[in-house]
Amino acid sequence: MTTAAEILTSRFGYTEFRPGQRQVIESLLAGRSALAVFPTGAGKSLCYQLPALVLEGVTVVVSPLIALMKDQIDLLRRHGVDAARLDSSLDANEVRAVSDRLRDGSLKLLYVAPERFNNERFLAQLGQTKIALFAVDEAHCISEWGHNFRPDYLKLAARARELGAERVLALTATATPAVVADIRAGFGIEERDSVVTGFYRPNLTLLTTPVRALERDQALIDRLRKRAPGSTIVYVTLQRTAERVADLLATAGLPTRAYHAGMNADDRVEVQEWWTHSDANIVVATIAFGMGIDKADVRYVYHLNLPKGLESYSQEIGRAGRDGKPSICELFACRDDVPTLENFTFGDTPTPEAIASLLDDVFAHSAGEQFAVSEYELSSRHDVRSLVLKTILTYLELDGFLEQGTPFYAGYSVRPASGEWDDVYAIFDPDRTDFLRRVLASGKEGRIWTGVDPDAVPGEERERVVKALGYLEQRGLVELKVADVRQRFTLLKQPPSLDELRNRLAENFDRREQSEAERIERVIALVEHNGCQVQSLVGYFGETRADPCGHCSYCLTGSAQSLPESAATPKLELDRAVLNKLTAEHPAALGTPRQRARFLCGLSSPATTKAKLSRHALFGALAEQHFADVLALT
Ligand code: ADP
Repeated sequence: MTTAAEILTSRFGYTEFRPGQRQVIESLLAGRSALAVFPTGAGKSLCYQLPALVLEGVTVVVSPLIALMKDQIDLLRRHGVDAARLDSSLDANEVRAVSDRLRDGSLKLLYVAPERFNNERFLAQLGQTKIALFAVDEAHCISEWGHNFRPDYLKLAARARELGAERVLALTATATPAVVADIRAGFGIEERDSVVTGFYRPNLTLLTTPVRALERDQALIDRLRKRAPGSTIVYVTLQRTAERVADLLATAGLPTRAYHAGMNADDRVEVQEWWTHSDANIVVATIAFGMGIDKADVRYVYHLNLPKGLESYSQEIGRAGRDGKPSICELFACRDDVPTLENFTFGDTPTPEAIASLLDDVFAHSAGEQFAVSEYELSSRHDVRSLVLKTILTYLELDGFLEQGTPFYAGYSVRPASGEWDDVYAIFDPDRTDFLRRVLASGKEGRIWTGVDPDAVPGEERERVVKALGYLEQRGLVELKVADVRQRFTLLKQPPSLDELRNRLAENFDRREQSEAERIERVIALVEHNGCQVQSLVGYFGETRADPCGHCSYCLTGSAQSLPESAATPKLELDRAVLNKLTAEHPAALGTPRQRARFLCGLSSPATTKAKLSRHALFGALAEQHFADVLALT
């Protein structure tokens, strides 16, 4: 393997391979597909970057997080490697430039998001390109039993085959043996080419501390005051908890800021910088914090709420002690968190009625017919969340009922650069001005933007309208935004029985709901585990450790912990008269028991949002209760 080792030094400047890298790269260079399960920060990207330089043809890297890969691409280019990404931020000229480099063979690495593989033009071009390596990041998303299933991923394996990719590399930081099996089966990876490095991190001390809800804020403050200062992350589940706890700690004199996805981008960047450039600052964050963060000296990771599962837990604690120095991870465990976590899942499970009405809609088309849908419109019409809709459509595609085509934008939003249309009209001759006026008159005028559907301008071809708008934009006369994305499908065949299909889909969602609930139970089982907790945690990911770690809560105390029962939940009380009246007023949003239970638990759905029901006093009135109890009540 002299060449690979030489390239490691000459092109990447590293002296040796990290664990697992050599084996993965050897498999790939020998022409076989491989799987790399390495913890975050262990050097997965080198496993495709290095072969990309050696192999003849392009390496396609599929990642849902290509925005975070900008730095990686910039770095490669500074080192003289031709790498590019294709995403929605590129304009037509930039896309063309990437295509040209792909065609003339100069491009070595192309980064794309999974949804790109629905674009027929892109597929046609890739079909004519020699793909030496097809690398799939976050490959656990392919598994329905993983913690982060993405419908787009289910189709990737088939795409890689259709495109004639010579070999595949699947990469992930978290995969249980069942998920590894799914990935291997999906991408056709042999056992010997599946490289799983250890999950065990000897420098991390894992502590679990059972607490009662009312005591946990104080427990955290005490802990933070008593320890040596160090860079710290405190994870919480909800955005409002992040705000509340950050205020509390700051008031207690601890250098603390909050971070969550509800904050605007500037504030988030500012908090991240403030934290990154300090060795003592504390950030109280939701799981939005951490992706793309590469800070080596995080000394403490606390979980003030239960994590969603052991996958999330190990990813979150994995951010501690990347520099190899001793670091502490402590989980404050409280049973009262369970309903909130479960509700994330219950909000997603569609009702059988919703599945049925969606199927009626899809199969109203005849076999061979092409049709276009707005996912936004479909999800609100049938009251299913967007991810659920995508999942159902993907199942139908995998079962051979549908075939997805290139999405397109049904419309544009346009506004004059100067603020006045008269300034634009003034430049053109009367004929063209008249044409423009007609285009605008056909649109929907908003306060600032006018929505234009190029297919709906009377007497004009779509082509001319699109060209004219593009020209105005190019001359800097207007600002133009694409809007209203439509997905295209072809119906391939009708199902023998719609009822049977509906039941099968509903069962799938029920199973998923069940498996998410089990995920939460496993976290509790880890806290209460009667034995070394580290052995138990890495065991879940398929790693066997013969010796106890010696520094988890169990090893330190020699006894198992037990979680106190939840604080007595308030009695289920419900003003039925108000609910009944509301249901009668909003049958589309509250017509079924499950819809009412979601509403009472504070879980929004497209229909409740549309009916502005999330502002109603009953919305979330039973949010602290177990969903199943509320469902039984409605
Ligand atoms: P992952 O994708 O597994 O989270 P990365 O690929 O981003 O990890 O790598 C993490 C860091 O390790 C990067 O800064 C990378 O340059 C560095 N790295 C990767 N391989 C090696 C190696 N063999 N020797 C030294 N540093 C390496």
